[in-house]
Amino acid sequence: MKNLKDYPRDEWMEAADACDLCGAVYQVRVNWVDDTGCFGDVVYRISHTDECPERWESVLEEGEETDYAGWEIMDNPFTFRGKQYYPLKSRANIGPCLECGKLIIGVPLILFIDEGKGGELDFCWSCAEKLGILKELTVKETGGEIFEAGGG
Ligand SMILES: [Zn+2]
Ligand SMILES: [Zn+2]
Repeated sequence: MKNLKDYPRDEWMEAADACDLCGAVYQVRVNWVDDTGCFGDVVYRISHTDECPERWESVLEEGEETDYAGWEIMDNPFTFRGKQYYPLKSRANIGPCLECGKLIIGVPLILFIDEGKGGELDFCWSCAEKLGILKELTVKETGGEIFEAGGG
């Protein structure tokens, strides 16, 4: 499991998020990492297609946004659906998808382990779909994006 410092610095990468309407993928760039190696600033941008309605609404249309990124990892892995993941102990605004490793700009799917005491498993929505998580889990809070991870 990587920390923020393990991602390339000053280099545009694909984020886990895409525009719902045109499918354009967000790009992220790690700008700065603090002394712990875990937290820092990430810049993101997106280029919608010419036809995308978001293009006109989005402040990102021409610019770049910066947000606080980073996370801390639990000491022990958690087995979820036969695979070991290191849950996140904490997360800033931008964190990783534990499956594909891409950074998630928007809201991830979060599986809380032991009501959060055991950390959380964060997945991007395309991985959540790929893994079949969305189908199998019951929504704990209607309209929310909070799910409970099934035990070990
Ligand atoms: Zn778009
Ligand atoms: Zn993912």
